[in-house]
Amino acid sequence: MTKERIYLFDTTLRDGQQTPGIDFSVQDKIVIADMLDELGVDYVEGGYPGANPTDTEFFSKKRTKQAGFVGFGMTKRPGVSTSNDPGIAALLQSKTDAICYVAKSWDYHVEVALNTTNEENLDCIRESVKAVVDAGREAMVDCEHFFDGIKANPEYALQCAKTAYEAGARWVVLCDTNGGAQPEEVEQIVSEVAKVVPGDHLGIHAHDDTGQAVANSLAAVRAGARQVQGTLNGIGERCGNANLVSIIPTLALKPAYADKFETGISGDKLKDLSRVSHRFDELLNRAPDSQAPYVGSSAFATKAGIHASAILKDPKTYEHVEPGAVGNNRRVMVSDQGGKSNFINELARRGIAVAKDDPNLDGLIAIVKEREAEGYAYEAADASFELLARRKLGTVPQFFKVDSFRCQVERRFNAVGDIVTVSEAVVKIDVDGEELLSVSEGHGPVNALDRALRKDLGKYQDQIKDLELVDYKVRILNGGTEAVTRVLIDSMDGSGERWTTIGVSDNIIDASFQALIDSINYTLMKRTT
Ligand SMILES: [Zn+2]
Repeated sequence: MTKERIYLFDTTLRDGQQTPGIDFSVQDKIVIADMLDELGVDYVEGGYPGANPTDTEFFSKKRTKQAGFVGFGMTKRPGVSTSNDPGIAALLQSKTDAICYVAKSWDYHVEVALNTTNEENLDCIRESVKAVVDAGREAMVDCEHFFDGIKANPEYALQCAKTAYEAGARWVVLCDTNGGAQPEEVEQIVSEVAKVVPGDHLGIHAHDDTGQAVANSLAAVRAGARQVQGTLNGIGERCGNANLVSIIPTLALKPAYADKFETGISGDKLKDLSRVSHRFDELLNRAPDSQAPYVGSSAFATKAGIHASAILKDPKTYEHVEPGAVGNNRRVMVSDQGGKSNFINELARRGIAVAKDDPNLDGLIAIVKEREAEGYAYEAADASFELLARRKLGTVPQFFKVDSFRCQVERRFNAVGDIVTVSEAVVKIDVDGEELLSVSEGHGPVNALDRALRKDLGKYQDQIKDLELVDYKVRILNGGTEAVTRVLIDSMDGSGERWTTIGVSDNIIDASFQALIDSINYTLMKRTT
């Protein structure tokens, strides 16, 4: 049986850019377009050609190899011809394969926002689509506020969709612009529209304002739509857009969809999904969501002891799909409730073999439990756990010893009377009997300490050159300034590998110091043993 094709349309670079705090440079856009193209989405929408310098530069060249490269813009203005509309001209000048128009399909907006008549709006849609088709490119129309429009004036909303289709639009996309639609109504409305515009020309553009953008997209697919729009990790304005990182594996791995449909993303590319999702977060300079469906680091993690033994006997009992299918890993976590089998499995996953009766194992379990009681959270700090385990089991040497460190923060007036804060750290290190003393200033005491630590590590200096701290999180465990502080540090090396280390102390600098030292030791352990 041949499967029906679902087309994936990514709007990370256009609608995704509406996310508060996100602003892509041309270089960011090039990298993201490349990632999406590699992954195998069908369309990459890049922004608004001609609307701002970034997008004008981005659209000066075609930026995709496989995927259709799409520019976004308004339908022509009422009262001017397409050839006299500067917006349309900019769209047609861009080096795109396709143009996606946004068009009004709710009569209320036609009147209020466009200040024109319903008939004139239909004419704008018709003429704008024709201009693109005549230029030999693919035309699409995003029907804005479609789901509200069809409730207010069903005849007119359908007329907008039909006009776009009849004028030659390859795709007529039904947009839930304010994100309030429910899956049942999406399914029902899309089935109605499919009687006027064939499903293989219908798309869905859902927003996540009720947490159902993915469900709404899938509802539209069940009702006949064959193009799904969304963004990487669901970024987008307000609560975000439909998350393609959840939709893609659902279409590929869940029999309800996989038996009937196929996308342009092969099984091999699907295995890249976790990496793509995490890399995108890196680019946004934010920590990946550990509980993200399919791709989060906790998506296939099990904590309880009984579950952990069962999961190893038969993973299917606790996992809805095989983690490797989306490039994720099974994680059986170390925790308070964990028994010996938890530890052995967690160690085995890291390539550390240990016998059940190894006396060092009991020592390791005891120290992990003790430290977790103090506030360490090894589930969140994979690298610190591995380091501790290998040390206790006797397979990691002591690379260097920190004899002492000192941190100083001074807040004072400078020569011109402005308040300045200066941080400085001094670190004394012993590397195989060689005494090293480093001093460094920094943006705050932790940064000064980090710089001083990494300034001179003697014979190991070359090994840590590409080490970079990418995230720093502080958590106060029991309130007040005398409380215990937990610090988590995320580090990354030149290959893009990322790991987390932890420190706990009643002194925030000391907790940070422990996490910094663990990260350096982890790097040396990976590279020298
Ligand atoms: Zn949108």
